[in-house]
Amino acid sequence: MNEQLKKLIELQAIDREILEFDRILAAVPGQIKAGQADMDAITREQEEARAAIADMKKANKQLEADVQAENDHMAKIKTKLTAVKTNKEYSAILAEVESVKEKVSAFEDKELAIMETLEEKAGELPAIETRFKEEENNFKEYKAKKEAEADRVKGEREVVLGKRQGILNTIEPKRLELYNKVLKRNDGVAVVAVRDSMCQGCFHRLRPQVVIDVKISAEIVECSHCYRFLYWVEESEDQTAPNQRTAG
Ligand SMILES: [Zn+2]
Repeated sequence: MNEQLKKLIELQAIDREILEFDRILAAVPGQIKAGQADMDAITREQEEARAAIADMKKANKQLEADVQAENDHMAKIKTKLTAVKTNKEYSAILAEVESVKEKVSAFEDKELAIMETLEEKAGELPAIETRFKEEENNFKEYKAKKEAEADRVKGEREVVLGKRQGILNTIEPKRLELYNKVLKRNDGVAVVAVRDSMCQGCFHRLRPQVVIDVKISAEIVECSHCYRFLYWVEESEDQTAPNQRTAG
């Protein structure tokens, strides 16, 4: 086989590896973000439950203060009773006492209702907190796994890039320029096999003479349709040949 073509096949294999690494690396931020969504949901739920409980406690504190104020009011009214001179004054004070009692009763009813809801919400909180911790651990684990995977792929990519540089030095600059052009217009595949007289890049049927030229491999032959570089694969090698069955 043409030596330059051999190098181009090696380069193509490496570029496919790099493309795959890039695909994996590009997907990682989105995967982590998707994992974060579950975490965000339970975080919100926990925050809302805690805020609701805090609000109810605050409201009850206010109601307790209101009850205390009315009780103080009541004490003052009662001191007035000692100074009462007429029935009219007495009735007015009794009415005031009734009004204060009603207010206190209303405050206490409210307090009781809030207490019931508060107990219910406080009872639900531990389960929410447990779920939060579980999700938090899951997410941390997932994120660490994905980041480790990305680091590993970056490392492998560096190694492959080093190999690539070594191969680049063995390819004629003009050939390399053409390779890069073809690579760009063909979704990262510039070198493909010929099988059943067809270019395995675009599945264009090749003329018999072209197939013979590819088989002889004295010169590098390009597909007249997609301009990819063509190489011959013996049937026995077919299994080990890189999968080039990419339409384009
Ligand atoms: Zn083609």
